[in-house]
Amino acid sequence: LRRNPGEAEFHQAVREVFDSLAPVLAKKPEYTDAAVLERICEPERQIIFRVPWVDDQGHVQVNRGFRVEFNSALGPYKGGLRFHPSVYLGIIKFLGFEQIFKNSLTGMPIGGGKGGSDFDPRGKSDAEVMRFCQSFMTELYRHIGEYTDVPAGDIGVGGREIGYLFGQYKRITNRYESGVLTGKGLTWGGSLVRTEATGYGSVFFAEEMLRTQNDSFDGKRVVVSGSGNVAIYAAQKAQQLGATVVALSDSSGYVLDEKGIDVSLIREIKEVERGRVSDYADRRGGAKFFAKGNIWETQADIALPCATQNELDLDSAKLLIANGVKAVAEGANMPTTPDAVTAFQDAGVLFAPGKAANAGGVATSALEMQQNASRDSWTFDYTEQRLQSIMKNIHNNCASTADEYGQPGNYVAGANIAGFIKVADATLAMGVI
Ligand code: NDP
Repeated sequence: LRRNPGEAEFHQAVREVFDSLAPVLAKKPEYTDAAVLERICEPERQIIFRVPWVDDQGHVQVNRGFRVEFNSALGPYKGGLRFHPSVYLGIIKFLGFEQIFKNSLTGMPIGGGKGGSDFDPRGKSDAEVMRFCQSFMTELYRHIGEYTDVPAGDIGVGGREIGYLFGQYKRITNRYESGVLTGKGLTWGGSLVRTEATGYGSVFFAEEMLRTQNDSFDGKRVVVSGSGNVAIYAAQKAQQLGATVVALSDSSGYVLDEKGIDVSLIREIKEVERGRVSDYADRRGGAKFFAKGNIWETQADIALPCATQNELDLDSAKLLIANGVKAVAEGANMPTTPDAVTAFQDAGVLFAPGKAANAGGVATSALEMQQNASRDSWTFDYTEQRLQSIMKNIHNNCASTADEYGQPGNYVAGANIAGFIKVADATLAMGVI
């Protein structure tokens, strides 16, 4: 705490992992002897830089850029870029720390990193976003590369931003290095299923949890928070599996649609028009918008928090439990507060932590890297099958690790322990680095 003052989200993420590790350290004292924990929570490198750009009125604006290269024991740093006004070092470090264990769980050869800026893309013109991205990459390019660090998207960074970033990287370096970024467009090195992967993967993970109780999505009432990349495709896959998704949200409130969310309408509003969920309510007969409302008041069998950190607190967890929720799977990173996680577990609700449940996004980014390296592109069906089998493996790994360490059904402990052991063993093998 003294070493990282004021970084509340980072402290929360570290505590959550370390809380699970006591039985591992008791079994493997070599981790303590070699200061593995101390090394794992200290980033290998942190880059903070000025991002100056010119707005449409001709004024110079200044934002702050970050890239935290947290851990490369298992492979090149890998993790998204977040553009949101709330971004500061503590957010990027929490996300980078989570990414280490998530990437380990995927079974792919990728280390952990994260970056971003306090730039707010909302309300900016395409030209402003382009100038910002070009300025951001003008510093970032010297730190990244196919074998070094491979950024992707996150909140506020989607296909448009990745395009501008890749264009500037290519221009500065004079290298068509497809493997330097993931989340690219399909005609210039992107992978089918990457856009859908995080949302689909969260639903695949939840499906595996439900299967352990001979249950499924079929006929279930589902609430998904957020209405961005992760939320939209979580909703789509849940509905493909026979559920009805009745609510979505954004930072201004939530929309209730008892008929089931019309995924093509919300895609049009969010991906093409860059509109709000209130626009959805205006255009969809029978749907209702609740300004500033709490989406978790909505009765749900399955809840998928897919917006942002700490969006589902203890009071909301109590509401969901009282309304009979059976399963909660985190599509977002750390959306559930620690006391809310405990409440779900105590109530016997199946609970999937983000580092396991939302790992499908980065896993499919690693599949994009594989396709780039082999100059190949796979079909949608093949790539989705790969994603589904990765999510099944992550689920089974978390469940069996939880069993092995005496906490059956505790996916939080299973994910933390399984993710940690691989990184710790690689760290030990490589000596004091
Ligand atoms: P998007 O930018 O596409 O969408 C984010 C959504 O969350 C928007 O609906 C946004 O509403 C809402 N939101 C963001 N911040 C807040 C806030 N402070 N309060 C309320 N609502 C908020 O991002 P993604 O869908 O890509 O990311 C969502 C979550 O999933 C994040 O936690 C991210 O780290 C995580 N994630 C994403 C992956 C990916 O592949 N994209 C991979 C793994 C995890 P508004 O427009 O009003 O801000």
